[in-house]
Formats: sequence, C-alpha cells, structure tokens
Amino acid sequence: SGRWARCMAIVKEFEEKCGTPEGKLKQIADAMTVEMHAGLASEGGSKLKMLISYVDNLPTGDEEGVFYALDLGGTNFRVLRVQLGGKEGGIVHQEFAEASIPPELMSGTSEALFDYIAEKLANFVDEEEQIFHDLASGRQRELGFTFSFPVMQTSINSGNLIRWTKGFSIDDTVGQDVVGELTKALKRKGVEMRVAALVNDTIGTLAGGRYTSNDVALAVILGTGTNAAYVERAQAIPKWHGPLPKSGEMVINMEWGNFRSSHLPLTEYDHTLDIESLNPGEQIFEKLTSGMYLGEILRRVLLKLAEEASFFGDEVPAKLKIPFVLRTPEMSAMHQDTSSDLRVVDEKLKNILEISNTSLKTRRVVVELCNIVATRGARLAAAGILGILKKMGRDTTNESGKKTVIAMDGGLYEHYTEYRKCLENTVSELLGAENASSIFFEHSNDGSGIGAALLAASNSLYV
Ligand code: ADP
Ligand code: MG
Repeated sequence: SGRWARCMAIVKEFEEKCGTPEGKLKQIADAMTVEMHAGLASEGGSKLKMLISYVDNLPTGDEEGVFYALDLGGTNFRVLRVQLGGKEGGIVHQEFAEASIPPELMSGTSEALFDYIAEKLANFVDEEEQIFHDLASGRQRELGFTFSFPVMQTSINSGNLIRWTKGFSIDDTVGQDVVGELTKALKRKGVEMRVAALVNDTIGTLAGGRYTSNDVALAVILGTGTNAAYVERAQAIPKWHGPLPKSGEMVINMEWGNFRSSHLPLTEYDHTLDIESLNPGEQIFEKLTSGMYLGEILRRVLLKLAEEASFFGDEVPAKLKIPFVLRTPEMSAMHQDTSSDLRVVDEKLKNILEISNTSLKTRRVVVELCNIVATRGARLAAAGILGILKKMGRDTTNESGKKTVIAMDGGLYEHYTEYRKCLENTVSELLGAENASSIFFEHSNDGSGIGAALLAASNSLYV
C-alpha cells in the first residue's frame, strides 16, 4: 500500500543518511587526530578541550591503605571504600553503596546536590568497619572524587566546572571549584574527609585499568555520555606551561563528547534532538553515540513514521510524543530480541508506548531502526578510537610488538552487546587484521571508582 511505501522511503532515507562507510570513518578519525593536536596546542584551540588532568603517574601496584571514592557520573552515583594491600597485595577488600540522583536535584541548586551526595557519603562512613579505624588511626580519611563532567583542573584536587552535560543543569555550580563545593557540603554534614584527587571517569578507568594491566594506554567510557582519556607525552602538550613531570607523561581528558566534524553523518532527527536539548550545539559526538541519546533518536524516527506515514495506524500514539520516553536499555532489548515473533519488541511497544497489535512486519522495521541507530553510534565511537590510536602512534604494529590495551567502561558498552561487538569489529576493520592484532579491549568493571581510590592513594598526605 501507499502507506507502507512511504514508511519504507523514510526508513531508507534515514539509513542512507546514517551511513558510515570505511572511507568516511577514516576521515572522521583523521579529523579527531587534527582536533587533538589543536586542543593540545592552545586553550580553546578546538572543540576538544584536551584537559590536563594533573595525573602524571598512573598506579604502580604499590598503593597501600584504605581509601574512599565517590563517583558522580550521570544518573547514579556510587561511594566506595577500598583497602589496598601494597606491593603484590592488590585489592584486599572493597565495599560500595549506590544511589540514584533524584531528577529534581539535576536542575536545582548546587548546595542541594552536594548536600545530597554528602549525606549518602555520611551514611556510608557511619557503617565503617572496625578494620578501618585500626588501619587509619590518627589519619584523616581521604577520597578520590570521580566527577564526570568537563572540569578545568587547577591541581590534582581542585578544578572548576566548565559546563554540565547529560541532562544536568545547575547554573550556580558552573565556574565553581567542585572540590570546594563537595568539601563545604561534607563540613555541613559533619563528615571528616579530605578530597585527595579529583578525576573524571575516563581518568579513573585509565588508572584502574593500569593497576591490573601495564599495557593500558587509553580509556573510553560509553555510558549515559561518552568520553576518552589517554597518556600523552608531556613534551607534546604546547599549552602546558608548568614544570615537566618526572615521568615525562600527562594524562589527558579529551572530553571527546564535544567533538564535531563536517564528516559526521547527521540527520534531521539529530538536528532537532540537538536544538531541543539542554545544551544545543554542544556534545554533538555524544548525542550520536551515547546511551542518553540512542533511544531518543529512535523515538524521533518512530514519531516521524507515525505522523507522516501512519506507521502505527491512523492515530499517532500519544506516548511517542514524550521526549526521552524510550530509553536506550529498552532499545537494546528490542534490538537483541531473538524470538521468532519478536515478542520483546511487542512487549516494549505495549508497555512503554501503549502501542498494541503491531504486525510482525512493523516490529521488524523497529528492530531495523534500532540496528541503524546503534550501528552508526558504535562505528563512530570506533572511528574516534582510531583517531586516538593514530595520535599515539599505536595504529600500526611497531617492531617492539607492543600491546595496547583499551580500558572500556560504561553501561552502554557493558550491556548493549550488539553495540559493543560492532564497535570492536569496526576498530579491527579500520586498522586491518595485522595492526589490530596488538590492540585489546578490556572491560574495566568499575575501574573508575577503584581508579579514583588509587589516585587518592598516590596523592595522599601520608605517602
Ligand atoms: P553513567 O554514565 O551515568 O555514569 P553508566 O556507566 O552505568 O552510568 O551507564 C548508564 C547508561 O548506560 C544508561 O544511561 C543507559 O543509557 C546505558 N545502559 C544501561 N543499561 C543498558 C542496556 N541494557 N542496554 C543499553 N544501554 C544501557
Ligand atoms: Mg559512570
């Protein structure tokens, strides 16, 4: 029928606009490398902030003692207590607690957000075991603070928020030292704790990854948002005017979510998503690749199909008009529905969008759209990784046969199998089999929390 033909035309056009052929991905990788150079050359020289982390030493394995970590990333936050055993000792003991951030706090006041966090931390500290007191007598507790938003660091344990991302929007925090904000809240709540290190999740994941494998040289997060960090030669950072670190190295927080390039395959859906977002014009790479947005892109395509081609029948399902109603975990469940009659798709459409009685043909199109959106995101993330490997000179097999391990983390990478497979396969495809044989992906499960604790240890007052 004409209706179905119109649907297919919309799907086909979307698919074409989302195309990521190898040649395009290589152009994107090259653009990433160029922007990396520009961001390292001067402050504000690129959309890529290439932030200096003040981490010039990654964990060695000798770290010892009990340390706390607090991980504020997006929708959830975690508090950890880690006991490090020193040389060969590894992680002797760890405990954690998790809480979600109430949505109203994501756009309230700075004080309310940090008070909430400090209170959760206070509860966690209250449950502290005797072992901590025995180990730490006379010592102040120390904390690694993983804060996964763009921060202009001023030292290893201070830094000012550049802007919020991932749905947070609290005006009075912008420009403030987030360690100062946390420290004030800890005081208000009566928690005795010193923030020894401020890092973001990519830096934490890199540090946590390095603790378990010496070959970890970069870290990529794919969760609510996306970001990457890697080890740069200090000499190759023209904008760094401080003393050259002894190690000769400096970890760079790329803030790659804000990458953009004329080569990116943007569609009308991406443009409207961006314009209607809390941060229009910003985080374009993130809006194509990360968990906060994939489901929302899918919703927008489904809405267009419903409005312009009666994809779900004569009426446009009301729920489909609600921004962000379709979350990426639900999209991933539909995408990976292996039942012959696509039962999961049927159930999700019913439960989330109140769309019932869809035909199998319709459900197949939904799966195809999930595939288009996820494939584009995963392949773009792969191109970004190629860009970093090129910048590091690790995109070709060197004589030394040196391994490169990429520490990966984030809920999207962890749970969306199709996305993860596509990303890893695309990196291999772009590198070629020979070069790809020295590149390894490692899921660094909660590396960012442990990494922050490790960095608190190496920046402790008591070392
Ligand atoms: P954050 O990025 O907020 O620190 P996570 O790394 O835990 O947190 O990532 C959470 C994000 O991962 C969610 O917002 C969601 O987009 C994505 N995610 C979680 N579970 C799944 C899933 N099963 N399939 C696809 N994406 C998922
Ligand atoms: Mg996180």
